[in-house]
Amino acid sequence: MKEWLNKFIQGRYGGDEYGRHLSVIAIVFLLLSVIFYNILQITIASSICFVIGMGIIFRCYYRMFSKDITHRTAENEKYLASKAETDKLKAQRKARAEQKNTYKFFKCPNCKVYNRIPKGKGKVEITCPKCGEKFTRKS
Ligand SMILES: [Zn+2]
Repeated sequence: MKEWLNKFIQGRYGGDEYGRHLSVIAIVFLLLSVIFYNILQITIASSICFVIGMGIIFRCYYRMFSKDITHRTAENEKYLASKAETDKLKAQRKARAEQKNTYKFFKCPNCKVYNRIPKGKGKVEITCPKCGEKFTRKS
């Protein structure tokens, strides 16, 4: 039995960050399914959530036992890159929120980068440090 299991596991991809992320999403869908069925008594929504949750679980297991390690690694790296980008945007949003009493933030109309201007300086011409675009805003 143990030998069979070792042989089965050998060369398989296993778990990663993306797999953990998917399993959390699956659990959320399965919990929603239970809530819809038992508390809200909406059976169709419950069924839909159940199918989606089980589909995601199937995908998790498929990825774990997959032998296509190159493909699975690429999926994980894609996930990690998008997570890093989301985390960066969240941190920037948090920093802007913390400074909102002393600064005003204006998005550059050209490159969409945020420019920080001290509050209460009246109408100012802003030159975007990234692309050099000039635009006027009230601080
Ligand atoms: Zn710009």
